[in-house]
Amino acid sequence: MFKFGKKSVDSGLVYGNFGNMSFVSSDRSFIFITKSGTFMDELNDKSVVSVYADESNKSQFSSQVYSEENLASSELPVHRLIYKKTDFNCVFHVHSPYSVAVSIIEYEKGNQFITPVDSEGKMFFDKIPIVSGPPGSLKLAENVSEALTTYSGVIAEGHGTFVAAENFSKAYVISSLIEHSAKVLYLYNLYKTAQNFKL
Ligand SMILES: [Zn+2]
Repeated sequence: MFKFGKKSVDSGLVYGNFGNMSFVSSDRSFIFITKSGTFMDELNDKSVVSVYADESNKSQFSSQVYSEENLASSELPVHRLIYKKTDFNCVFHVHSPYSVAVSIIEYEKGNQFITPVDSEGKMFFDKIPIVSGPPGSLKLAENVSEALTTYSGVIAEGHGTFVAAENFSKAYVISSLIEHSAKVLYLYNLYKTAQNFKL
């Protein structure tokens, strides 16, 4: 987990202290998630808190559990619903810039997907869904988790990617592939526009 946090910063998927990641216990009762405001390239044992996967018994939470909940990433509701609706073990969320930019442009045009033009993107994704919802909201949690029941990754419009996978290695690779496809799509459209532009 720590290794892929550092890789995500080194490769430009994450800037500042944006982004978060989690995994679920084998019995799926606990989620281990990065704390709010954590720098993904400085992760250590103190960067992660454990929370109940199921919050339906929230009224019975002890003060200890509540304090852990309050420290967790503000995207905890999204992570919770993904683990509830899918069998995946890890969730990886980054604010990768080309994915964010392309999602805004395509969403403004009324598109709910981006269609990769690069070879890897075509091979791994037929299309990549774009969903909406304010950060940390239940609406975002519902839209992201629903998309991840069908697709391996999703872009929250103007915000970043959410990927769920069996392990962090796979989640990191899928996140990188989405960003690569978004970058190539952006450059492709930019180049095409420039070629049509006559001085
Ligand atoms: Zn975010």
